[in-house]
Amino acid sequence: MSMQRLTELEGHDEFLARHIGPSAAQQTEMALAVGYSSVDALIDATVPASIRLKNPMALDGPQREVDVITRLKAMADKNRICKNFIGMGYYGTHTPAVIQRNVLENPGWYTAYTPYQAEISQGRLEALLSYQQVIMDLTGMELANASMLDEASAAAEAMTLLQRVNKKNKSMRFIVDSDCHPQTLAVLKTRAQPLGIDIVYGDATELLDAGDAFGLFLQYPGSSGEIVDPSALIEQAHAKNTLVVVASDLLALLLLKSPGELGADVVVGNSQRFGVPMGYGGPHAAFFATRDAYKRSTPGRIIGVSVDRDGRPALRMAMQTREQHIRREKATSNICTAQALLAVMAAFYAMYHGPEGLRRIAERTHLLTSLLATELTKAGLKICNKRFFDTLTIEPGDQRDAILTRATAREVNLRCDHSETLAVSLDETSTRADLQLLVEVITGKAPAALEDITADSPIPAELGREIDYLQHPLFNEYHSETEMLRYMRRLESKDIALNRSMIALGSCTMKLNATTEMLPVTWASFGAMHPFAPAQQAQGYRELLDDLERMLTECTGYDAISLQPNAGSQGEYAGLLVIKRYHESRGDTARDICLIPSSAHGTNPASAVLAGMRVVIVECDAQGNVDIADLRAKATQHSDHLAAIMVTYPSTHGVFEEGIVEVCDIVHEHGGQVYVDGANLNALVGLAAPGKFGADVSHLNLHKTFCIPHGGGGPGMGPIGVGSHLQPFLPSHPVTPVPGLSPDNDVVAATPYGSASILPISWAYIALMGAQGLTQASKVAIVSANYIAHRLRDHYPVLYTGRSGTVAHECIIDIRPIKEASGIGEEDIAKRLMDFGFHAPTMSFPVSGTLMIEPTESESIAEIDRFCDALITIRDEIREVESQRLPLDDNPLVNAPHTLHDLTAEQWPHPYTRRQAAFAMDSLQQDKYWPPVSRIDNVYGDRNLFCACPSIDSFRESIEDEPSLG
Ligand SMILES: *Cc1c(COP(=O)(O)O)cnc(C)c1O
Repeated sequence: MSMQRLTELEGHDEFLARHIGPSAAQQTEMALAVGYSSVDALIDATVPASIRLKNPMALDGPQREVDVITRLKAMADKNRICKNFIGMGYYGTHTPAVIQRNVLENPGWYTAYTPYQAEISQGRLEALLSYQQVIMDLTGMELANASMLDEASAAAEAMTLLQRVNKKNKSMRFIVDSDCHPQTLAVLKTRAQPLGIDIVYGDATELLDAGDAFGLFLQYPGSSGEIVDPSALIEQAHAKNTLVVVASDLLALLLLKSPGELGADVVVGNSQRFGVPMGYGGPHAAFFATRDAYKRSTPGRIIGVSVDRDGRPALRMAMQTREQHIRREKATSNICTAQALLAVMAAFYAMYHGPEGLRRIAERTHLLTSLLATELTKAGLKICNKRFFDTLTIEPGDQRDAILTRATAREVNLRCDHSETLAVSLDETSTRADLQLLVEVITGKAPAALEDITADSPIPAELGREIDYLQHPLFNEYHSETEMLRYMRRLESKDIALNRSMIALGSCTMKLNATTEMLPVTWASFGAMHPFAPAQQAQGYRELLDDLERMLTECTGYDAISLQPNAGSQGEYAGLLVIKRYHESRGDTARDICLIPSSAHGTNPASAVLAGMRVVIVECDAQGNVDIADLRAKATQHSDHLAAIMVTYPSTHGVFEEGIVEVCDIVHEHGGQVYVDGANLNALVGLAAPGKFGADVSHLNLHKTFCIPHGGGGPGMGPIGVGSHLQPFLPSHPVTPVPGLSPDNDVVAATPYGSASILPISWAYIALMGAQGLTQASKVAIVSANYIAHRLRDHYPVLYTGRSGTVAHECIIDIRPIKEASGIGEEDIAKRLMDFGFHAPTMSFPVSGTLMIEPTESESIAEIDRFCDALITIRDEIREVESQRLPLDDNPLVNAPHTLHDLTAEQWPHPYTRRQAAFAMDSLQQDKYWPPVSRIDNVYGDRNLFCACPSIDSFRESIEDEPSLG
């Protein structure tokens, strides 16, 4: 047999053909269906020539998966993982293997979307509710949300919440006690400045005596490790109508009286040490707990208990319309994507260990610290903090250099950010050997053998705590691995994630999160790095970050990137601050107007408010484009005050606006800067670049376009790209300054590179695709959306199209006329899609009464067709209602979703068949998803807000009461 040539046999294992769903022939087929002779003809008709890139991006060619892993391994190997005792909010922890493999590494969990569609999200909602329960129990507060981005930004949110709710004290001062982490102080200062809040930093007791303040921030235990009973200070503060935020530590709270019991108004912190790797800064879930009275002002998402149509308890996101960013310029927080996946992990960690197991971890950590204190004291060292949990601050005097030299030689990281002191923090992973090592490093002498000794706890009796937490059965029933494994599987299988079917959520870009991209996330060489480890230990990260920045400048056309913002919302905020600093640097201090088109995502106006700007809305015309005449008028009217415009491109209406260059020019003429919201970059990469068509700054949602999975509501990353004139104002960091930037710059996240450990995902995606693959992905995303618009057009009106009658990478179908004619609305369609095993498209954004569909390039034509078939079948059902063959109050739509329970009930009282209810399409016979609950009553849940884990009895009762069980 004759063989082919080597070159012919190579090149067939390229990743891009796996990432992109349709084959080349199918792409052409879709373009032909839409009426174009080729993919390129459709793209030429859709993307305005005025913004098209002339040259391909300067990126390496597509690489094979095995080669990309080899390259990542080489980078990871340049990281040196030393023994970490730095603490400062980040600690070693053992991720239980059963959680690592079955949650963190499991697409059933990590590819899910934010649980807006509650019926298909019961699994992750239950896990998040458990997280809230952990936080409420340990903080002693009445209410907790389901995760924040990091501890420092949670502290900033607490500060602004207290300012809003404090009606009795209108001072603009906020006291920050000096024993707090430096990164928290830095983020508080950045957040306070544009809002006119005056941060006063120092000894809280003295500052409280010295003047009025609306709020006070304390850390318990303090950054130095010292534990001070805060109750007297809190009482004194309350007497002066000053409200109090306490930042705390979950492991310490297993032994320490809760801040809630001591009088705190808000408690914040990080759940990282509950089984989530440090990851050079993230991602991990911060927490936010407060009084019930402040629930309506609380930022972030709160999971609540409601009931479904049959009266069964069912979970949902409480007060969804209260989600802050939805309130646009009236919002008080811009947080949208948070850290859901990591909150889920922390909750499972608490279940895995249970209250006694967690207590043992805390006691052991505390005992090792006490033993260390004894040894160091014996050796004559001065320990500054008398009462500690896991952290000792040492005054080494003239021994400092010698200690640090020994530490470096033994690969031990101590906290050394203060010139006078050193500090050491122990954690779950600390061992007897570590104790020996620390004594040797710090005293220079080997300790006597550590026998099975004990020590007296320095925690005073009045701050001690018994096990009064985590008594719910959830934290006591899954201690065998078998039970834990099955519980997590049960929850997972209640939900729809990308490993089940297409999730066509407009604006959210739910594309493939390839396994190869995900592999590095759980390598210890990335995961075990402390965010404040010395730079020379993190050279692998440095190479990765630098290379990713270079890649992202190519993809966006900007000159510089900041990788600090850990969500799109935070990128918006950071980008607007950069604009503000730029204007200020030119003496242009009066510029505070931010123009925002009415079609904008709610985070845009919310971020503008946080950056201290005034929002002026620009109208859209009948075609959904920014109304240029209105823009011109408003830019002229506010010319002296114009700071910026924030526009999304292609627009949230799903069209490439022809006028974008003119929009940029008008704003620049009036001295403003152009912020392009990069959430829709999936339609642009390789075709056009915001940095080239006139924009000054953009954020990129790496969890949309660049393949970081959504994690059921986070993590994400929202780095920003800027033109060279804005580069000097990018965020830096007080502990680890970003190279090339002043450490005094603004700080928007607790760590310099946000959630650094998920950046290998985006790096891998770009390396795998190369310039050609990325460009092809953008084209196919556009072709697929047009194919869907074409297939649905005869059944559902497509709301907006561009000049050639095409859409961008998403299309909006208008349900308003259908509702008018039939009484069936977008919500009924969304719920009915669940019976077909699909997650609904984006509902009522950016136009209420519509559905916005975004297929992405990753969906095969077969899946796209299945999805269109489902929508068309549903349209036929609506016609039955329209023609009154089915009554409006009893049809497959209003009764959707249908549970197995409904189907198997003795009685079937409906005027359509069981088969139509559950198997309306033949393909469902092969793979049927059963929604675990029927339609959830949102109003009931908001009226009866309940955000803790319900008793198991309430579930049992509801099942026993079930009338239709016969
Ligand atoms: C997703 C999105 C955002 C917000 O980004 P997060 O990462 O969720 O904070 C902002 N604007 C648009 C248009 C979006 O689609």
